[in-house]
Amino acid sequence: MIERMLQVPTIAELRRLVGEARRQGKRIGFVPTMGYLHDGHLSLVKKARETCDFVVMSIFVNPLQFGPNEDFDRYPRDLERDRELARSAGVDLLFTPSVEEMYPRQVLTTVSVAQVSEPLCGQSRPGHFDGVATVVLKLFQIVQPDAAFFGQKDAQQLAVISQMVEDLSVPVQIVPCPIVREPDGLAMSSRNVYLSPEERQQATVLYRSLKQADAWLKEGVPLDEIKQRMAEMITAEPLAEIDYVEVLTYPRLTPVDTASPGQQLIFALAVRFGRTRLIDNMLVTV
Ligand code: AMP
Repeated sequence: MIERMLQVPTIAELRRLVGEARRQGKRIGFVPTMGYLHDGHLSLVKKARETCDFVVMSIFVNPLQFGPNEDFDRYPRDLERDRELARSAGVDLLFTPSVEEMYPRQVLTTVSVAQVSEPLCGQSRPGHFDGVATVVLKLFQIVQPDAAFFGQKDAQQLAVISQMVEDLSVPVQIVPCPIVREPDGLAMSSRNVYLSPEERQQATVLYRSLKQADAWLKEGVPLDEIKQRMAEMITAEPLAEIDYVEVLTYPRLTPVDTASPGQQLIFALAVRFGRTRLIDNMLVTV
């Protein structure tokens, strides 16, 4: 079988091809990414294929969601490789706009989701989730998918997008997908390529600390004590520098002192290894 995947860099051409698929009665699935694809991204495509007839993936490193001292310029990019991975995963249409195509003029409109955007990465990356919400709503307007697929890896992003879609009655079904991990537990991330061998080895502490947190929760250890023990575990790795270790309610991301039965909580962390900032999380129902 010859698998065909089309790649388009313009909004007009993307709209034309998606429109054609829609007129054929196809259900449109959408997987937004920043590229440098790995199995985490491809699991979203797989999930999309299960329920949709036409899968659109975007690859766009969105400058709006990077702070001035962040890694926009050195974010890993390899379109050639991505194209092949997307094609073999079953993407029908790959949207690869340039920054000029997406933002030909200064952007004066910002989508800002209050509260949910504020803690965790919202604190360490001011403006980040405004950039995310704005580009995702724009991409939704361009692609007009029936369903869009997001990884739990970026659990706060998922909460922000779900809130935006609900608040603004955006007619897109948001489908959360589980975190895909390396065999040693490290959550897959495009940024993992930055890690030196020592950093890569020590980075396994993120998942180890999350699993421990879950075990401690089950033993009835108080949440504050769990956070403290997680932080101790992480700082025992000499190259790790904690940005945050937090436990909040999910998906509203409000503070929680004592876990109550039936409540959904998120253990979330961001840790720097050298210049590389990694995030991971675990959702638990008490
Ligand atoms: P990114 O290219 O990092 O912006 O990610 C694009 C999408 O892939 C987002 O919905 C991410 O949450 C998702 N994603 C990234 N890494 C993983 C992973 N390890 N497991 C599951 N989904 C992921």
